[in-house]
This record gives sequence, C-alpha cells and structure tokens, in this order.
Amino acid sequence: MNEQGLSEREIFSYLENAKSEDTDYYRVFSSMCTRPHKIAIEANRLFIEANLGDLGLFAGAHKLEQEVVRMLGNLLHASSIDVPSGGLCQSSVCGYLTTGGTESNIQAVRGMKNLVTAGKKEFKGTPNIVIPASAHFSFDKVADMMGIEVRRASLDSEFRVDMASVEKLINENTIGLVGIAGNTEFGQIDPIDKLSEVALENELFLHVDAAFGGFVIPFLEKPQPFDFKVPGVTSIAIDPHKMGLSTIPSGALLFRSPSFLDSLKVSTPYLTTKSQFTLTGTRSGASAAATCAVMKYLGYEGYRKNVQYCMELTSKIVEEARKLGFEPLIEPVMNVVALKVPNPDLVRERLLKKFGWNVSITRTPRALRLVLMPHNSPEDIELFLEDLKKVTAE
Ligand code: PLP
Repeated sequence: MNEQGLSEREIFSYLENAKSEDTDYYRVFSSMCTRPHKIAIEANRLFIEANLGDLGLFAGAHKLEQEVVRMLGNLLHASSIDVPSGGLCQSSVCGYLTTGGTESNIQAVRGMKNLVTAGKKEFKGTPNIVIPASAHFSFDKVADMMGIEVRRASLDSEFRVDMASVEKLINENTIGLVGIAGNTEFGQIDPIDKLSEVALENELFLHVDAAFGGFVIPFLEKPQPFDFKVPGVTSIAIDPHKMGLSTIPSGALLFRSPSFLDSLKVSTPYLTTKSQFTLTGTRSGASAAATCAVMKYLGYEGYRKNVQYCMELTSKIVEEARKLGFEPLIEPVMNVVALKVPNPDLVRERLLKKFGWNVSITRTPRALRLVLMPHNSPEDIELFLEDLKKVTAE
C-alpha cells in the first residue's frame, strides 16, 4: 500500500489492466461457473454490505436467504418432509447458503460426524464415509480437516459408482455415504435410489453432491431421481453460482432434518443471534439477494430454457466431434462431455497456446473434458472443432 492513496482514475486503470488478463469466459469450456445473470448482478450490488453472519442486523437479507432455502426445497422435492418451520427451516426443509460445493460438502460430513458422536456410537477405529472415486476433491479436504477416513468406491463402465464396491467398503465405522448427482468430470449421476436403499438398510446418512447437477437434472427431459423424493437422502449440496446463474460465492446446503443444523451449532456470545451453524462467520448477504432475484426472475421456465440451450450445445459438439472421428467416453447425461482424442494433454496445451481455448482433462481415463455452459455459443463450437481438427492433425 502507498502512503498516499491513488486517484479514482488511477485505480480503475489499474483494475482494468488486471481485468484484461481474465478470460471473461471467452473460449472457456473448462468451467462449471459462468457469467451471472444481469438480475443477479444488480441484486448483488444492492445488498453488497449485508452480513448474514450477523442476522439480527440484516433482517432483510436474512429473509431473502430463507426464501432461497424455501425455493430450493421445492425444487428438490422437500415437500414430502415433515419438518416444523422456523429459524432456517422453511416449512419442509432446513438449510443455509454456503460459499459453494466445497463448504457444503464439508458441513454435510461435519453434521454426520457430530450426530453420530452425539449418539455416543463407539468406533473400533477411525469413522469413515464411502464416496465414489469420481467425487470432487473437496472430499480430500474433508478427510484432512475432520479426521475421517474417506473410502473411495470404484466406478462402473459408465462412470457411476459401483454398488458392489460401495457395499464392500461399508464397515462398523462407516457413518455415511455420498452420491454425486452430476459428477465434475463426466457429468454422470450416481444411482441415488440404490445408494438410498443401502443407506437405509445400514442406518447411514446419505449426502448428495448436486453442486453442479442441482440446477440441471430437474430441467432435463428425463430427470433421474436424486433429491429428497428419494427416502434415504439426508442432505443435498446445490450451487446457485454454477448453473443457477447467480453470483460467486453462492452455494447451498439443505438438510432433511433440523437435527443436522442443531449438530452444527456453536454459541456466538457477542452477536445479535445466540448461535451459528454455518462454517464461515461473516457471510455474503449479496449472494443471497442475487440468488433470490435470479430464481424468481427466471422461474422454472427460465431454468428449463437454460438447460435446454446447454443440452443443445452438448448434442451439437458430440455430433460434430463424431464426424471428426472423436467419440465421447459416455453418451452425455448432462452438459459435460469427455471426448476421446489421441494424446489429450498435448491437445489441451496446443488448443490453449495456439487458439486460446480453455479445456480440461479427465483423470482416469484421460480425455478432453468440455463443459457446455450458457456463455458458449453454437459458433464457438464450430470454431473450436475446426481448431481441434488442426491440432490433432499435427
Ligand atoms: N462438487 C461438485 C460435483 C463440483 O463439480 C464442484 C466444483 O466444480 C464442487 C463440489 C466444489 O464447488 P466449489 O468450487 O463451488 O466449492
């Protein structure tokens, strides 16, 4: 920092310089985030100073958060759950807005651990959770932070978790299972109904990571069961800052039962509220306002159109790539495609260096991973495939 401040003009020139190095999502096929909707940006601006970590001071922003929890509960079929309303429980669902999938996954597992510990279960060893090998790396952070063993079940040929592998990994120290509804690399959905049966049979919690898929699956032509309609599902992560078109950081964590929120409580003696169950203290009221505004503005129809658009891009890229001789690893389930190309790491590097395309690579097997988002266009796809043809011919 300088002794004397810079002028406004100097600051903005400095910022614009930095911004010119950002992609602005131009030629980006690697991100699960996108440009926020203009309504979300405006709402974000209006509530920029609101701190949801001190609810008593920001009653208005808090109401918006409750409304988002209620709307998300409806989207995720929480109506079948019988929960008293009040606090952050909105008629039939409990939850709060997080900073994204990572925080939601951490808190879901923390809730499982606290509830099991409160139940005074005796463990013979370290408590564990069983997750698919395809799970997001946020679960590595869970393992690191919480002294929980993370057991990875193998995948079937379609990159869904293999149920036999899940059952083999469950032992007397298992506290919960995780299923992914829209996995990061392949966009595949685990068999949540089968995971639910196993969870209920073994009295385990079942967390569904729908950070990406939560704003996609309900709007697909043939949605698969993944939400609270499935009886064993105890918590769901869903991110408005991905396909929900809200501002960053907008995540959400919903629970079937208020006991989860209770298990996460710590007392907050010097705030306007007595306790907090969130992971972070200070929280953005702006992202609650942004999410509330964009959900109300778009409605089911708007999100359906958004998903339809991304799925059309997905079909187009698969169809055109096939003409070039590149097959997808699986028929895309949502707007994520993994393309089999020779030497994917080199192809990725050349696409970026020569043409400025940002793509990523799946871990096993290695393939070109493309996420088709609202910021992409049919013209982008045509240009991208021309460039892909060039770099693979070298
Ligand atoms: N879960 C899934 C399935 C994801 O795809 C991601 C990110 O892409 C996350 C969790 C982590 O979300 P965030 O980066 O918002 O913490």
